[in-house]
Amino acid sequence: NGREEEKEDIEGGEKSPTRVTRSIVFATSEAAPYSKTGGLGDVCGSLPIALAARGHRVMVVSPRYVNGGPLDKNCAAAIDLNCRIKIPCFGGLHEVSFFHEYRAGVDWVFVDHPSYHRPGNPYGDINGAYGDNQFRFTLLCHAACEAPLVLPLGGFTYGEKCVFLANDWHAGLVPVLLAAKYRPYGVYKDARSILVIHNLAHQGVEAGITYKNLGLPLEWYGALGWVFPTWARLHALDTGEAVNILKGAVVTADRILTVSEGYSWEITTPEGGYGLNELLFSRKSVLNGITNGIDADEWDPSSDKLIDFQYSIDDLSGKVKCKTALQKELGLPVRPDCPMIGFVGRLDYQKGTDLIQSAMPDLMRDDVQFVMLGSGDPETEKWMRASESAYKEKFRGWVGFDVPISHKITAGCDILLMPSRFEPCGLNQLYAMRYGTVPVVHCTGGLRDTVENFDPFANNGSGQGTGWTFSPLVKESMLGALRYAIETYREHKTSWEGLMKRGMERDYSWDKAASQYEQVFEWAFFDQP
Ligand code: ADP
Repeated sequence: NGREEEKEDIEGGEKSPTRVTRSIVFATSEAAPYSKTGGLGDVCGSLPIALAARGHRVMVVSPRYVNGGPLDKNCAAAIDLNCRIKIPCFGGLHEVSFFHEYRAGVDWVFVDHPSYHRPGNPYGDINGAYGDNQFRFTLLCHAACEAPLVLPLGGFTYGEKCVFLANDWHAGLVPVLLAAKYRPYGVYKDARSILVIHNLAHQGVEAGITYKNLGLPLEWYGALGWVFPTWARLHALDTGEAVNILKGAVVTADRILTVSEGYSWEITTPEGGYGLNELLFSRKSVLNGITNGIDADEWDPSSDKLIDFQYSIDDLSGKVKCKTALQKELGLPVRPDCPMIGFVGRLDYQKGTDLIQSAMPDLMRDDVQFVMLGSGDPETEKWMRASESAYKEKFRGWVGFDVPISHKITAGCDILLMPSRFEPCGLNQLYAMRYGTVPVVHCTGGLRDTVENFDPFANNGSGQGTGWTFSPLVKESMLGALRYAIETYREHKTSWEGLMKRGMERDYSWDKAASQYEQVFEWAFFDQP
């Protein structure tokens, strides 16, 4: 099953003809298809496979969520490794066990603990975020650090010489533990840690007194210690003392990556740094951005089983059939030539849904259809439902998290709107372009890096660009870009086809991004930790 060759590659010489093969350990709170609430799940579900395909030995450590929901089935193939460890944290020893599945060349390792067995999503339920998330993800980090030492996967452990990829704050204690708990005792001296920031807005901040629960030596308090600004304190006596797990990761990781180049710069500015900008700026010499790829098998209009008609760049006829099928399914008037605009994403301030809301009365005066899929902010959900009645012939709001519908919207719409306030990478614009759906996006972060603004006059009039990037983030400039797009769709069919095809031709494969990750690994191993 390839395991033997893997062993030879990694133990002997470590070199394949073209590059060094590494043992790579992802620590993450989500990995699709086992668990996913957003882009983090997509990335940790597909980048490991791309790295494994390039010859590396790859393990992904994430919680074994048991929620009685559909995700349980996905996890069902994982078997209990009968390996239990006791983690010293939160005033006691907490036993976790490991489940395992070897799929697509990757060791998917699931940490099992009763606190992961809940009906909601990985972070919370209808009542909000779980109160013990710091505990749940502390367990994950300790377990991820132990896994390469104790799990004999395919007959042999990963050992100490590995690269840890710690994703977002949930895995942020991994680099801290390496620096504070393992390396001082001679363990993991030859390992490297890379913090991957998918979203800086979430940092894992709790009261300072919780530091003692994390299982870290007291003298490392400074790495996580954090003072809330005065305005964020609850009452006059509040000293603002807090621990910030992401800050600890920024301080201790050997390298820091963001999920697009643009975002790696934005987080060093006061506007994008969420209080960590100065620290991140001070670590600029080890900070880089690599733009995410996409799972090109899951998101391929020529083979996608979740859409009603398949199509490709050579035969686009299926696309308009997808549109009419979507109109039918949503109960909208079936009109193949009516411009259809879509939005898919979390209903959150980050995603700029308030801008969509404020622009809707204007937009609904045009001859367009608009479909929104998303869940999150209850007020926005309410507004979506109300808008369905207000604009019966033109607007549909699908409240919920529904992967098949997200594929249908991506294929069926002509335009995908993303007015994100900030966007570390953004995946929906990449999916849209692959499906010949033209993105209209706010010019920020990964959106700026991946969508090329339309220029009808470039290339001797044959045009260039893959969509519209508008700025500043105000209703008027968004509507301006949307109306330019709508007019191009209606009046300039050749330009529109050029936009669609240029988007579909782009290379969004993980292979390219995976080779950039390899360069960062080599750069990390070049230096001493
Ligand atoms: P973020 O990680 O900030 O949520 P991304 O654009 O990076 O944003 O990734 C979002 C991922 O989650 C995409 O795969 C998108 O299709 C998916 N997604 C978001 N909301 C929904 C939803 N309501 N239903 C189905 N998929 C969704």
